Amino acid sequence: MKKEDPPICNRCRCQVTVKHILNECTLYSTARTSLHLDTDLFSCLKNNDVAPILILTSM
Ligand SMILES: [Zn+2]
Repeated sequence: MKKEDPPICNRCRCQVTVKHILNECTLYSTARTSLHLDTDLFSCLKNNDVAPILILTSM
């Protein structure tokens, strides 16, 4: 297993986490709105529609 540094958000210059993407990052705010995601992290995690956002982070 190759150990890699955690991804850094180019927009915010902070570590990219699921919480950051779902609740904090302005870069994904439009995507969140379009998917009608709840602002509550746990509600987001229960929502399968969050998958497209997670895919975006790997691009
Ligand atoms: Zn960010």
